[in-house]
Amino acid sequence: MKDLEKIRKNQGKRRKIALMLAILVFLPFLSSCNTEDKIIVREHQGMHTTSFFAMDTLIDITINHRGYKKSLKDAFDLIMDYAYNFAAYEKTGDLADINKRTSDCLDISGDIKNQIEIANFVSQLTKGALDITIYPLVEAWGFPSKEFKVPRDEEIQELLSLVDYSKINLKEAISPRLCMPQDMKIDLGALAKGYTGDMVESLLKSQGAKGGLISLGGNIQVFGLKADKSLWRVGLQDPQDEKELLGLFEITDRAIVTSGSYQRNFIENDLFYHHILDPRTGYPADNELLSVTIVTKSGTYADALSTGLFVLGMEESLKIWKETQDFEAIFVTKDNLVYITEGLKESFTSLSDLYEFIIIPNN
Ligand code: AMP
Ligand code: MG
Repeated sequence: MKDLEKIRKNQGKRRKIALMLAILVFLPFLSSCNTEDKIIVREHQGMHTTSFFAMDTLIDITINHRGYKKSLKDAFDLIMDYAYNFAAYEKTGDLADINKRTSDCLDISGDIKNQIEIANFVSQLTKGALDITIYPLVEAWGFPSKEFKVPRDEEIQELLSLVDYSKINLKEAISPRLCMPQDMKIDLGALAKGYTGDMVESLLKSQGAKGGLISLGGNIQVFGLKADKSLWRVGLQDPQDEKELLGLFEITDRAIVTSGSYQRNFIENDLFYHHILDPRTGYPADNELLSVTIVTKSGTYADALSTGLFVLGMEESLKIWKETQDFEAIFVTKDNLVYITEGLKESFTSLSDLYEFIIIPNN
């Protein structure tokens, strides 16, 4: 009996030792699975950059910060989380749950609530040119799946009846709650990158970064200064030639967000179709504009505005600019004119001979 107990004890000891050995052997592999090692960091001019693909675009984050390793890793983790939770086309996640709901109302996250509030504000400002309930139409045009197609006109007319931001109802109980008719769906594609830029900026600042540039496709956000104490230089892309720049911003503490028909599009039967839809017609917005760039403090506001103003066209957009006085803009038109609002005179330099640059006075 005693011997048996001894054997069991020894077996237990051996198992413990084997487990400890296994942990020691596998520890390096386990630790190499954390995101700090997954991201590749480059050093340049005393600053650190990481680049990766998420939110359907190439993302670059550059920071002027001693604790760059942790900050870049935390920013990466946050963006991956948002990429999943803000995508209408994912099977699961916060926004997918909203679009799959089985009743009119459900609890939502604070991040989604914040975005819906800003979207609703910009929808009112643009008289519905921005409308995040556009998702059934975005789907019908095949943009999320990238199986692009021109829907039948009857289908477009039918789906338009599901587009109405004024039916979104936000309530604040124990947690934020959203109510809207069950067959309506939300798309945050017009402002999720802007919101992500804002949140990444807050995160980096809270960790002590002295400056940073967060680039998420057409959304760029800059704060503080570069390591050599100079301003950030941000290029403005030529909407007719992705390799060329129209000009350069030298700027800080601003979001610079561009919406344009060049960013996602397809051609069918020799006709050009793009991803920014006019909620009044259900078809891609069709006016004199090739792109709109908004420059303001908040990335979320800039992103929502750039999409809404692209739909509205220049004349209506300039009325909003004059009324609100809380953003600056650059409009690039199909006849090679670049209209720049007066507030950008100092920070923007034109670089292209192919366009005429015109300053719009603020009076
Ligand atoms: P952006 O690139 O920020 O201009 O956003 C364009 C994305 O917003 C599209 O890919 C759609 O997912 C969505 N979208 C398209 N048209 C609208 C609209 N009128 N209002 C709100 N979201 C839209
Ligand atoms: Mg936008």
